[in-house]
Amino acid sequence: MQKQGFKWVKVSEMFEKTPEADFNCDYPGYSGLWCRLIMAVTSYAMTKNSVAVIHGPSNCAWAIRNFCQTDYSLYYGNPFLHMPVTGIDQNDVISGGADKLVSTLKQVDKDYNPEHICVFDTCSTALIGDDIETAISTAQKECKARIDYIPSAGFTAPSLGKSIEETALKYADIMEYQAETTENSVNILGQYKEQQDSSPMPGKKRCKNRRGKYSDDASELTRLVEGIGLNIYRILISGTYDYIKTAPQAKVNVISCPTWGFPLAKRMEEIFGTPYVNQSIPIGIEPTKKWVMELAKFTGREIEAEKFIHQELQELTPMFERAKTYVSGKVALIECGRNSQTAFARPMALARALEELGMHVRLFGLHPLELRAKAMDFEYFMKEGFDPLILDGNYAYQQPVNIAHIIEDLRLKQGEYVYFTQDVFPAAKGGVFDPANIPRVETGVHLRRVINAPGRGVGFRGARALYENIIEAVMFSERGSKSTLYGRVHGDFYESFS
Ligand code: SF4
Repeated sequence: MQKQGFKWVKVSEMFEKTPEADFNCDYPGYSGLWCRLIMAVTSYAMTKNSVAVIHGPSNCAWAIRNFCQTDYSLYYGNPFLHMPVTGIDQNDVISGGADKLVSTLKQVDKDYNPEHICVFDTCSTALIGDDIETAISTAQKECKARIDYIPSAGFTAPSLGKSIEETALKYADIMEYQAETTENSVNILGQYKEQQDSSPMPGKKRCKNRRGKYSDDASELTRLVEGIGLNIYRILISGTYDYIKTAPQAKVNVISCPTWGFPLAKRMEEIFGTPYVNQSIPIGIEPTKKWVMELAKFTGREIEAEKFIHQELQELTPMFERAKTYVSGKVALIECGRNSQTAFARPMALARALEELGMHVRLFGLHPLELRAKAMDFEYFMKEGFDPLILDGNYAYQQPVNIAHIIEDLRLKQGEYVYFTQDVFPAAKGGVFDPANIPRVETGVHLRRVINAPGRGVGFRGARALYENIIEAVMFSERGSKSTLYGRVHGDFYESFS
């Protein structure tokens, strides 16, 4: 690893030595994952009774439709988001596309009759400087739907974290000042890839079992909030225009994902004066206790919170102790992404939980620029005093780090480590590096589904599922033979295992 320019450093060191995330940086060839349009439109895919209008060439719209079909709607969010496109062509980039946008908005309002329309621009319409705000106010005079705009030209934000931060802020612009707040009400901010059916569609009944067989992060955070006698007001981003608009009526905001949640919470505090609790992504026992207790302190519910936590821990502690006997003293190899190299908050939150179990954590597979682009997440974990070791280096663009090299570098032997994968296509080779001989715990948001526990792992139920999965993974790895089909098929796809 050292020969390839990699070394283990504290997260804070990697952050400090990395230049600001823009195109003029020390990492030639690194251009960021996906385009900002993808993050902006997929965030909007969690809303309801709404239409996304793409202002640009049809190919941008097709790129997003394809992403939504293959990586998004299959697993999360709105099963189908309408996204008509203005269809900018060679002539429009000379004469301007604003007129096309006005006529498209009027037509969409008539044809789809939505409650809300959001305009997303693209590289070409941003480069020619189409006046989108004026086009929207012109169309708004004749449209029933409220129309908003989320800037999303791909070239304007090379790194994923920056795209998210800038997109999240725009949801505060959709909200309206509320003269009164509702007692005991709490918004959850920063929910991405979960469509919360807590806001009924106009004229439709609310579905009782609204989140189905597999609960998600918001289900568990809702349980924690309700467990101390408070009520959930809004879960964002989700719901209809009216649901989002009235979010400032809540007494306080709590945060799920920090990347999506903190920017919006800070902006809501500036504009509407809504305070927020400075905790997020509670994976593991202590972070969950802290998340609950800080909300309880803010709302004067410490006694209820202590009672609730005591009850939860009575049930959870035996499983925690049991998991500890399987992994305490071992190394947790936590991958922050395979090709994507972008996941930071969730692997860090997982690392906190694994340290509670007595594991030695090592994070890898995060591109330094993507860490730099997630400054808010970084600040949060530093404030919490959590600064583990991470693999720093010149990551090849969208190429996974070879995990065989990491094992060699750390001189790890079979039985001394557990692999935690956070993304699709985990490393595997039948008979060599396969769950049948190396414990692999799937903690990625794409594939993990656990009955009655949030797949992404927050809260006490998330912790219980994590401990169960760790025990299962270690026990399964003792089989030693009959590799999984995935391990046999995957083989040397990326890694060259000896
Ligand atoms: S042209 Fe720009 S906005 Fe369109 S898909 Fe490519 S990067 Fe994204």
